[in-house]
Amino acid sequence: MQIFLKCKAAIIKREGSSKMKEKVTFHHAVTMYLRGIKELHKVSPKFFPILTFYCIVNAVTPYITVFFSAQILKELATFRREDILWKWVAIGVLSVGIVSALKAVLKHRYDTLFNDLWGRKEIIFIQKLFSLDFEEIDKQENHDLRSQIQQNENWMGWGLMKIPNVYENFVTGMIGILSGITLTISLFTAQVPKEAGWLTVFNNPLFIFIFAAIMIGVSVLAGKFSAASTKCQSTLSSQATMGNRLFGHFGFVGMDKERSIDMRMNNQQNLIGAYWNKNLAFGVDGPSGKMARGKMGIYASLGVCITTLITGFIYVFTCLKAWGGAFDVGSITQYVGAATTMAGNIFLLTGLIGVMETNTGYLDKTFEFLDIPNAMYQGSLTTEKRADRRYEVEFKDVSFHYPGSDIWALRHVSMKFKVGERLAIVGENGSGKTTFIKLLCRLYDPQEGQILLNGIDIRKYRYDDYMNIFSVVFQDFQLICQPLGANVAGNMQYDHDRVYQALVDAGFGERLTSMEKGLDTMIYKNLSEDGVDISGGEAQKIAIARALYKDAPFIILDEPTAALDPIAEAEIYEKFDKIAGDKTAIYISHRLSSCKFCDEIAVFEEGAVVQQGSHEALVSDTNGKYYELWNAQAQYYTE
Ligand code: ADP
Repeated sequence: MQIFLKCKAAIIKREGSSKMKEKVTFHHAVTMYLRGIKELHKVSPKFFPILTFYCIVNAVTPYITVFFSAQILKELATFRREDILWKWVAIGVLSVGIVSALKAVLKHRYDTLFNDLWGRKEIIFIQKLFSLDFEEIDKQENHDLRSQIQQNENWMGWGLMKIPNVYENFVTGMIGILSGITLTISLFTAQVPKEAGWLTVFNNPLFIFIFAAIMIGVSVLAGKFSAASTKCQSTLSSQATMGNRLFGHFGFVGMDKERSIDMRMNNQQNLIGAYWNKNLAFGVDGPSGKMARGKMGIYASLGVCITTLITGFIYVFTCLKAWGGAFDVGSITQYVGAATTMAGNIFLLTGLIGVMETNTGYLDKTFEFLDIPNAMYQGSLTTEKRADRRYEVEFKDVSFHYPGSDIWALRHVSMKFKVGERLAIVGENGSGKTTFIKLLCRLYDPQEGQILLNGIDIRKYRYDDYMNIFSVVFQDFQLICQPLGANVAGNMQYDHDRVYQALVDAGFGERLTSMEKGLDTMIYKNLSEDGVDISGGEAQKIAIARALYKDAPFIILDEPTAALDPIAEAEIYEKFDKIAGDKTAIYISHRLSSCKFCDEIAVFEEGAVVQQGSHEALVSDTNGKYYELWNAQAQYYTE
């Protein structure tokens, strides 16, 4: 109980902290980025090492060119020794060639890994979704949060996928600055000779300090303008999200096979066009276009203008020192080249502050989703594999209402499943049949009462272990675009004979023999041109085969045949009954005729079990609910 309460407290805490942080601290931003890097590294371990290597090579490349050009110019301006000149040219060309080739290879590798990462990072979200409590998946706010994260990413790569860009600029900027300092140290230490008059002022250490301060100050200012421009973009977030939603929905709606006929017949394309034109977030005259022409553009150009000032300042300083005789013309090339590249790197780093700050808000959203706590208690007991399949399940005075609803979907339900028995659950729509199965499969925990497996509360078992004792075919079962055999086995590797037998038992045998590729036939055409489209009835048989292949001690059919006519449904149930063998089987149906062969029938009404017994016993109770339902349905069918 203590554990359950702790988990609930974690949920309440999350609900209170879902607002966006007003002010992002440096420490918080760094923590978020480091966590993001860790998450991405887990799904693509080669990405960051390759990116780091690429950044180093990319950062030093311009300095190599600057260095060798300077050496050649120095030699030309002084001794003009042919052999030395050849040496510098040869080493220079070779070095630049090797580094450029290496950079090209690394860039290609980095681009490939980056594209791969776009897909791979989805694993992080998919794993989270599959590990979430079912109750959390039900909540609309969690769906909204996930789609918001996706929209931010689609818009400008905000969120996790901005991290590689920030990392690249950070490492490149830092390495660039360090390389620049190495090549420019002598610019400051070289002394202007005394005879140069007033120019000796450059020898004063204070001047060097002022120079460095101006350089850094102006770069920071340029970075601030760049950051302000970036922040302007993020204010468009909500409109961009809407724009992306429109694009995601209306942009592809025409490809939806099931909608296409209805769309044409009702001229829905006109509606789509009109709505789309009114909501063009990214149009030239939309908010994004207007902002680009307004303050966003102005901030960006101010940033660039200021960077040019830095370059001018470096030129003047270097030339004046050379004029005073501190160094030769070759060194001017080295210092000017290195210092301007370094200023560019400082600008890169300071500009990053704005991106980092803005993106931290988006990362907060991402981690808010990834940190949704699971409130359901996870037990550690194993459901020892019993050869005799004697698994007894009992509902003991169970009551349950869905999260956010005050209405009891189940009330005081007590029931014991006898091993190997056929149990039918019948009742009108909304009487609680599916909810009963959802609790049995522990998609939710009851608020009152207990569900016991062999006398122990099911919460105390390991969930995956517990689920292994059930094969369920839900009403809205789903097959995926994968080969038939893999669909049945739920695995790419499987026992072909058993899958084949399960399909034959489920009544799919004839159709299977007509399939040229047999179990390797791709289901649906979404991923493969030679995939096959299957009818609803065929899909149902595959879903039933899947349940048979699992060969679990409990088998549950939750109205998977609702779309069939009553006779076809009854046939499937009876056939299934034969196949189910010694398993405990539970059938859910709102059609009573389909289940009369069952040993025991439980009648649900408004969340409670109002009657229980064999068909004969129930139908003879003329005052009971079963009798009422039976007569109502029988009358309908005979008509
Ligand atoms: P049945 O399977 O007999 O048709 P259900 O078990 O699906 O009935 O539903 C029982 C009750 O629970 C109904 O009143 C239904 O509206 C409600 N209910 C079902 N699913 C949810 C849900 N996810 N959230 C809130 N109420 C639900």
